[in-house]
Amino acid sequence: MTAPAPTAQDVAAIVRQVLAELRQTGAPASRQAASAGAVTGRSFAGHHGIFASVDEAVAAAAEAFHHLERLGVEGRKRAIAHIRRIAIGDAEELGRMEFAETGIGRLEHKIEKLKVLGEKVPGVEFMTSEVFSGDHGLAVIEHAPFGVIAAITPVTHSLPTIACNAVNMIAAGNTVVVNPHPSGRKVAAEGVRRFNAAIHRDLGVDNLVCLVAEPTLESAAELFAHRGVKLICVTGGPAVARAALQSPKRAIVAGPGNPPVVVDETADLDHAARSIIQGAAYDNNLLCIGEKQVFVVESVFDRMMVAMERAGALRLHAGQVDALTKRAIVWAGEGAHRHQVPCKDLLGKDAALLAQAAGATPRDGLELVFGETDVDNPFVPVEQMMPFLPFVRCRDADEAIERAHESEHGFRHTAIVHSTNVRTMTRMGRLLDTTLFVKNGPSVAGLGLGGEGYLSFSIATPTGEGVTTPLTFTRQRRCTLVDDLRILGSPGMEA
Ligand code: NAD
Repeated sequence: MTAPAPTAQDVAAIVRQVLAELRQTGAPASRQAASAGAVTGRSFAGHHGIFASVDEAVAAAAEAFHHLERLGVEGRKRAIAHIRRIAIGDAEELGRMEFAETGIGRLEHKIEKLKVLGEKVPGVEFMTSEVFSGDHGLAVIEHAPFGVIAAITPVTHSLPTIACNAVNMIAAGNTVVVNPHPSGRKVAAEGVRRFNAAIHRDLGVDNLVCLVAEPTLESAAELFAHRGVKLICVTGGPAVARAALQSPKRAIVAGPGNPPVVVDETADLDHAARSIIQGAAYDNNLLCIGEKQVFVVESVFDRMMVAMERAGALRLHAGQVDALTKRAIVWAGEGAHRHQVPCKDLLGKDAALLAQAAGATPRDGLELVFGETDVDNPFVPVEQMMPFLPFVRCRDADEAIERAHESEHGFRHTAIVHSTNVRTMTRMGRLLDTTLFVKNGPSVAGLGLGGEGYLSFSIATPTGEGVTTPLTFTRQRRCTLVDDLRILGSPGMEA
């Protein structure tokens, strides 16, 4: 049995009711009424991206995707501008919230990681098309959006990763549902709420960035499998990388790293020491690109250790390194899955706390502790994510490169070399084959901070997209026009 068609009065009453509800959300009524969802009464406008269930979040993001399509590239530009403005303008407040909630890293870097959203993260200017013009006409390759993307984000940079993913993904015309790390979910929700509220006020579209308010492993699995999700983007450690790679959907995987550093006899040791401290101490070594273990050739090893002290790091003696190792690296998992991991109490904590745990006395402003270890010390293979670096003595550059290669585990994420010998650089670059390879600078230079290039907090390693940009989140579409619009005429061709 079909329902009777609504009368003109019914429709007018529904529209009046929806407009009244929408006015309460504070958005311009004329723009909101233009939303198809709003007129049917099924709109998620007013949620500002925060959802209790995966289903609702995906439905809201799908509705927002269709709305964004109608707003065109200009709409994407304006939406992104709001995200950048809030990330920068509210960086102090949101950085403090992230620091308080996660309890790891350094406050000044939590703030800085939001401020870099301004210039370093690419937007719609990356959305170029390619054109082939010839005797048979014209082919235009356009980069189209996927639709709704599922994103998983880490605790190490909760809101910065979400903001950066959102800028890239919206620039490409997509919308996104985020399942954040549970320990960074509150700041994630506050940031997402602010982004959407500002975009909604200006453009009348809500929920471009959606978030599962109480994220769990189950909600992550549900999101991966949801039929409304067209693409997956995960940023995190080995477990989530494996889960995404096993998904039948296309996944962009920004996986774990364990970046080694090689210092050979041709390096400027003082410069190398300053660079290593800058990279490894940044946000207490939470960055996936941060220096994690150092291999130094025998002939300059002792001088390099002195250079590190001169640059401000605190050297631990062998007994102190042993004491710290016992406290900082612990066993996890059962049976065949048993492996060593950083201890939660020290992960992302200040160098002063590590020094105390080692039985040393820290001085004010200490950023990094370090010490000599052998290659079997667990600090070498484990991605410690804390400001202690093991330094391993190596016979020559070849041995240093071999050991660096082993310690990187084939993640092909990031490696750093300090050398003026092109052969050392080339051998290391070829063997490790990493996504980022930084020479004679801190690791952060690889993301354009003190080096060239753009920045993203999602560096796709096993799946190969590299430092993600808007183009990472697009599909190619080719539009072909046969035998017309030829730009170059040939002799005898008709006009
Ligand atoms: P994590 O792996 O513990 O968590 C990352 C995210 O994955 C969280 O949201 C978590 O809830 C989720 N998760 C974990 N296991 C999952 C599973 N089986 N299925 C679905 N979701 C799952 O990592 P973390 O401690 O938050 O972040 C640090 C790790 O992330 C480090 O290994 C670091 O190298 C890596 N990382 C990589 C990049 C990159 O760009 N490649 C950037 C930042 C961090």
